[in-house]
Amino acid sequence: MDSLLCDYNRIVSDKPVNAGSWRVYLESSTGRRLMEMFDRMLHYFGPQHWWPGETELEMMAGAILTQNTSWKNVEKAINNLKDKDILNIESLHEITVHLLAEELRPAGYFNIKAVRLKNLINFITENYAGDMDLLLSEKTGALREGLISIKGVGPETADSILLYAAKRPVFVIDSYTYRILNRHGIVDDQIAYYDLQALFTDNLPGDAGLFNEFHALIVRTGKDFCRGKPLCDSCPLNGWETMNITGSN
Ligand code: SF4
Repeated sequence: MDSLLCDYNRIVSDKPVNAGSWRVYLESSTGRRLMEMFDRMLHYFGPQHWWPGETELEMMAGAILTQNTSWKNVEKAINNLKDKDILNIESLHEITVHLLAEELRPAGYFNIKAVRLKNLINFITENYAGDMDLLLSEKTGALREGLISIKGVGPETADSILLYAAKRPVFVIDSYTYRILNRHGIVDDQIAYYDLQALFTDNLPGDAGLFNEFHALIVRTGKDFCRGKPLCDSCPLNGWETMNITGSN
């Protein structure tokens, strides 16, 4: 238990976490098992340094553009916006959906993503006068409610924005999280998004740095090993839990 705490302090956080509160969580069997998962992935891959993006707006745009495509393609679309100097609220508000879609073409589903990005920009413009600081000053619950109300922004995208752009301790659930936990017999494949999210948030300290690194490591493990045909023999999670841990505190 102590080694997990030390490793987290050493590798992820640039400031010491409260050891007392950590111990409470690590004494929960579910929390300890989840931290064993984290520990195995972190030691194998090292820190992932997410989220690649220079500004909050770039991270928000990335959260929308990354749906159903690789990050490499997202970067090309983001670079198009930067090259044209339109990666700012005012320009994205003024540009037509048609012209925006052309810039987003490398990200795939570019017509849909252009509409979704415009919806986000309109939301910020209409509700916060285009002021990103005002938007990000909202409490987490209100911010999530607002983001979810935007057409085309689902729970995973909203939570990515909350975690990576707004730096809130919100655990992001994606298809790899479902797949890995399901394959290890921890949850069934019909579990609802917020129930799976609660498994993490109810049993881990609410630490945005930890949640950032944890999600990034899950995605890395999913991409490299937990594919359609899993590569279990060489996976860092080989030998980790194979039993149901929900409700086992
Ligand atoms: S590849 Fe195998 S060991 Fe790795 S996470 Fe998937 S099911 Fe688990």
